Amino acid sequence: MQNPFDFSNYACQVRNFSRSLMSSGSNAAEISGRMHLLTIATERDLARFGDSSEISRVACGPGCGACCVLNVAVLIPEAVAISWFLQRRFSTEQLGELKTSLQELLSRTLWLDDDERLFLRAPCAFLDDLGNCIIHIVRPLLCRAITSTDPKSCHDQIAMVPLNGAPIVEMNLFQKRMIDIVYCELAGALEFLGLDCRPRRLSSAVLALLADPEMIDLYVSGEKMPIH
Ligand code: SF4
Repeated sequence: MQNPFDFSNYACQVRNFSRSLMSSGSNAAEISGRMHLLTIATERDLARFGDSSEISRVACGPGCGACCVLNVAVLIPEAVAISWFLQRRFSTEQLGELKTSLQELLSRTLWLDDDERLFLRAPCAFLDDLGNCIIHIVRPLLCRAITSTDPKSCHDQIAMVPLNGAPIVEMNLFQKRMIDIVYCELAGALEFLGLDCRPRRLSSAVLALLADPEMIDLYVSGEKMPIH
C-alpha cells in the first residue's frame, strides 16, 4: 500500500524554498520571476505527487467562471506578478479600461465579507465575457486551489446561495491542501524576511500597483503597503 503523502514535510520544504526565493528581488521583474518559479514548482509537485486519476477529475477550465464571484486574497508578490504581467501584455487603453473595472468592482465589494460577496455574485474584473481568466498564467494561488470535479454542481450551488447558505462542492482536496500550504508558507516566508505579509483583496492590490508601480519600493524596503 502506498504511504500517505507527508504534508508537514512538504510544508517544511516549501518554507525553505520560499524563504530563499523571496530573500532577494528588488523590482517588479525580479519579484514576478520568483513568483513564477514558485508556481512552476507547485504545478510540478502536483503532477509528481498527486494521484493522476484524481487530477484528471478536476474539471475547472476555460469558459467556466462559476466560482469567480468569491473574494480572493493575494500576497503582495502575487499582486506584483499580476500587475507586471498586465503592464507588459496590455495596451494603455486596455489598462485604462481594466483599472475602471477594478475600481468599480472595488467600490461595490470592498467592505463585503465573503458571504456577502458571494451573495452579490459580482464577477472578478479579470473574468472576460467568455468566462476566461485573462490573467490565467499568473492567477493567484488561492484561485489555483479551487479544484471542482463537477462544474454543474458549482453553478447550481452558487445559484442556490441565497437559499442555502455556503455552497458545498466536490473538490480535489489533495490539490487544494498543497496549494493552501504554498500560500501559507509564502506568507510565513515574507514575515520571516520582514516583508509585508498581510493578505489583500486581489482587486485592490492590483489596482494600487497599476496606479502607482513605484509603490513596490515600499514593499522591498519592508514597509507596509497602503492597500486595503
Ligand atoms: S483571478 Fe481569474 S481565476 Fe481568479 S477569480 Fe479572477 S477570473 Fe477567476
